[in-house]
Amino acid sequence: MCGIVGYVGHRQAVPVLLEGLHRLEYRGYDSAGLALPYRGKLRVRKTQGRVKDLRDKGDTATLPGNVGIAHTRWATHGEPSDANAHPHTDTSSRIAVVHNGIVENAEQLRSELTALGVQLVSDTDTEAIAHLIAAELDATDSLEAAVRTALHRVQGTYGLLVLDARRPDELVVARNGSPIVLGVGDGEMFIASDVAALVHHTQRVVFLDDGEIATLRADGFRTSTLGAEPEQTDKVPTTIDMAAEDYALGGYPDFMRKEIAEQSEAVRRALRGRLDDRFATARLGGLNMDARELRGISKVVFLGCGSAYYAGQLGAQLVEELARIPATAEPASEFRYRNPVVDPDALYVAISQSGETLDTLAAVQELQRKGGRVIGAVNAVGSAIARQCGAGVFLHAGPEISVASTKALTNMTVSFTMLALLLGRVRDLSAADGQRIVDGLRAVPDAIDQLIGDEAAIAEIAQRYAKARSMFFIGRVRAWPVAREGAQKLKEVSYVHAEAYQASELKHGPLALIDPEMPSVVIVPDDELLAKNINTIEQIKARGGPVIAVTNADLPDSIADDVIRVPKVAPELDPMLLTIPLQLLAYHCALALGRDVDKPRNLAKSVTVE
Ligand code: GLU
Repeated sequence: MCGIVGYVGHRQAVPVLLEGLHRLEYRGYDSAGLALPYRGKLRVRKTQGRVKDLRDKGDTATLPGNVGIAHTRWATHGEPSDANAHPHTDTSSRIAVVHNGIVENAEQLRSELTALGVQLVSDTDTEAIAHLIAAELDATDSLEAAVRTALHRVQGTYGLLVLDARRPDELVVARNGSPIVLGVGDGEMFIASDVAALVHHTQRVVFLDDGEIATLRADGFRTSTLGAEPEQTDKVPTTIDMAAEDYALGGYPDFMRKEIAEQSEAVRRALRGRLDDRFATARLGGLNMDARELRGISKVVFLGCGSAYYAGQLGAQLVEELARIPATAEPASEFRYRNPVVDPDALYVAISQSGETLDTLAAVQELQRKGGRVIGAVNAVGSAIARQCGAGVFLHAGPEISVASTKALTNMTVSFTMLALLLGRVRDLSAADGQRIVDGLRAVPDAIDQLIGDEAAIAEIAQRYAKARSMFFIGRVRAWPVAREGAQKLKEVSYVHAEAYQASELKHGPLALIDPEMPSVVIVPDDELLAKNINTIEQIKARGGPVIAVTNADLPDSIADDVIRVPKVAPELDPMLLTIPLQLLAYHCALALGRDVDKPRNLAKSVTVE
C-alpha cells in the first residue's frame, strides 16, 4: 500500500516522480503529492485524488530541480484530503517526508509536539515524524543521524523517505516493515516502494532490509543499521529480470483484463522445469527439503489474506487429497494474533502475491520465533516474505498490477498442486495418479485459453445480473473455496454485495433470502457430489431464485437460467478452472456498473499496513 518515489540525479525530477507515482498508483489513490528543494526551502504540491490531478494542478508539472520525493496515499490516519496528503513538512518548511505504514504512538507524539507549541496542520500520524527530524537537526548536521534519532521515538511501521531543503543533493530513506527498494542508475539514484516504478530506468536494485537506513546521492548510496550504534551494511545491487513492458497495458483496456488473459502463459511459466514425467512428480528446488524431510511433515497449514487465503483453502484440499496429510488454511491476519500452537513437524506455507503483506509477514515471524518451519509462496522475488522465509515456491505469475488478484491466485493454486503432488509421491500416491496430475497440469493453460474464448457469453450474463442488490455464490467441498473467491471478486471490483455459502448449509438458514431478486451462482464440479449439487439448484429454483450454474459436468441447458461451461482436466484441478469464469463475471459486472476495475474504492494492492 502507498506508493513512494524518490529521485536524485541529473534529470529533471518531476517527470520521473510523476511517472513513478503513476506506475505505483495501484498501491493507493486517496491523494498524491511531491516535494522539491528550492533555495533552502521546499516546494510542496499535493492534492486529494489521483496522480493525474496532481500533474494537472497549477505549476506542478513544470517545477525545476534534480531531486525530489513523491507519494500516493492509502489513508490510515485522517481522511483523504489535501491537508492529509503527503509529503508532510516541519514548521519551517525545511524537512519533507513521505511515509508508508502506521505510527502506533502517533497520538502521544502529536500531543508532545503540541505541548511544545508546534502547530500540526494534518490529522496524519506521519506529520509528527517531520517535526521530530527537524528538531533533531538542531543537534547534528547529518540528516541521516537526525532521521535515525527521530525514528528511535517512533513505534510502528514505516518505509520513510526524507528530503532536507538545505541539503538538495541527498535523500535519506529508512525501512521498518514497509518495502523500500533503491534503483542504481548511471550518475543517478531512484527510490520506490516497488520495482514497478524503477524498471523503466534501471534493473540494478537494492532491497532495503527492516532496520536499515540509507543516504543517497547522485553518485551512489550507503546503508547502515538504524540502531543507536549504527553499523554499516554492505549491500550489493542485484539485477532484476523484469522488463518495462511487463508493467504496460499492451493494448488491453485495463490491467485486470490483461492479467486474466495472461493466465495461460503465467501457468506455463510456473510449470516450466518443474514437472517430472520419469517419477510422475514435481520438482520444487526452492523448498530445500529432501525426501526424508518431506516424509516427516505431519501437517500442512496455509496462511494468507484475502484471495491468497482462498488459494490456501484450495491448497489444503489438494494436500489432503493427493498426500493424505492433514491440511488446513487460515487467514494470516487472525493467526498472528491468536497465540497459535506451533507444531514443529508441520509445514507452514505463507502465501502473498507481493511478498510484503504485513499480516502474513508478521505470521511468518511469529512462526519462526516459535520454531515453526515456514516456506513462502510468493510472486515478487526479493520481497520481505521471500527473504524472511529463505525457502519456498515462487509463483512466476509476472507483475500483477490490478488490485483484484487473478493470475497470481491461479498460480498459487498451480503451485500448491505441485506441492501436494510432491508430498503425495513421497507417500502413497501411485505413479499412475501422479502422472494423471502431471498431465492435468499440462492441460491447464489450453483449458484457460478456451474459457477466456467464451468471454462474450459471460459478459452478456454479467450485464443482465449486474443490477442485482446481492448475489449468492454456492459450492460444496472442492467448490467451496471457489464460491468464496467468486463472491470476493464480485464484491471488490463491482461493489455488489455477495455472500458465499456452502451448498449443504443453505437449508439451515440462508435459503430464507432466496427470491426472484436474489441470483445464485452455483459451482457444480463433475465429481462425486454432482447429484447433491443438482439437488441444491432445484431447491433454489423451487423458491423462484435465478440460478447461474458454473459447471464442467455434462448437464442440459435447462438445469439453470444460465449455464457457464468449463473444460475438464482432472477432478483435483478443476476447482482452479471453475474460478476463471467468476473472474470474468465480476469483471463484466464491474464494467456494466461503470467501476474503475483496477482501482476499487477503499482498496489498494500490497497490504503493507495492519
Ligand atoms: N499512515 C500514513 C497516512 O495515513 C501513511 C499511509 C500510507 O501508507 O499511504 O497518511
